Amino acid sequence: MKITELFNQSKRTFSFEFFPPRDEISAVDFGINVGQLLKLNPSFVSVTYGAGGSTQERTFTLVDYLQNKIGLTTMAHYTCVNATAAKVKSDMEHLVHIGIENLMLLRGDPPEHMTSFENNEFPHASDLITMVRALHPFCIGAAAYPEKHIESASLDEDISNLWIKYQSGADFLITQLFFDNEAYYHFVQLARKKGINCRIIPGIIPITSYNQIRKFIDMTGASVPEELSRKIEENARDAKKIYQIGIDFSVKQCIELLEWGAPGIHFYTLNKSRATIEIYESIPKGLKQML
Ligand code: FAD
Repeated sequence: MKITELFNQSKRTFSFEFFPPRDEISAVDFGINVGQLLKLNPSFVSVTYGAGGSTQERTFTLVDYLQNKIGLTTMAHYTCVNATAAKVKSDMEHLVHIGIENLMLLRGDPPEHMTSFENNEFPHASDLITMVRALHPFCIGAAAYPEKHIESASLDEDISNLWIKYQSGADFLITQLFFDNEAYYHFVQLARKKGINCRIIPGIIPITSYNQIRKFIDMTGASVPEELSRKIEENARDAKKIYQIGIDFSVKQCIELLEWGAPGIHFYTLNKSRATIEIYESIPKGLKQML
């Protein structure tokens, strides 16, 4: 089923993002975690495409499995890295062949041997979206950045580029992780003013350890509310406390987002089930109702 069809049926969606397991041991671990998460009956699941296009084969194998063996509405991520028109065409034919109807189309980040995307056949996600749109009527998601993309000079510039992406054919947007809900509210308002009228689903990451959270903040430039930052620093050496601080924060964050009117939550699960399950189960039933 197309994710846009789910939108027609439900006010909110709750979705989980996975990455393809790296080896056989992590595949076993993945199976156990996914099994637990699926009990929550997600609206859809998505599978990332490795940085540098490194996991393409495993992404395709996993989306095939989740869509066809488990029967989930599944979205395959796909990036501009190493993409040529011929390769995109044949990859899209393969995805159609295995019944994938939903794609998350991204630029990706330049692999080590490339410094930028300027000479790439597809320099921006919008270029990829334009081509894929012309090939097949997929349902297409794209990325949005409430605190601007790290390469953009300003939020205004980023939203102008987002508008190009929307006009190219993105059906919905999922945001980069963030911790400051005000940034999301402001961003949605600016996007609406610009005429970007599709669903903008907040992407939420459960904080589970000190090192993990520092890594993601450095990677994305996400701002951290002062109180959360203080609590994290004060308890940096206490893994149990950090975990609980993270869960409590995410529960509050999700509740506030849903009360504000966010059209659901996309969880960056990092292939772990415990934190996402604890957060999801702590959201009041009324806010999880999809109708
Ligand atoms: P773009 O939309 O191309 O934007 C990149 C930069 O170029 C921005 O600064 C933007 O403002 C600017 N820009 C965009 N269009 C134009 C234009 N037409 N003219 C001029 N400037 C423009 N990465 C992976 O490798 N694999 C994944 O599976 C993956 N999944 C993700 C899922 C989500 C929900 C998100 C938020 C990110 C994901 N990423 C993934 C990371 C993503 O690839 C990076 O953030 C990347 O740096 C930008 O990708 P994009 O699609 O937003 O690029």
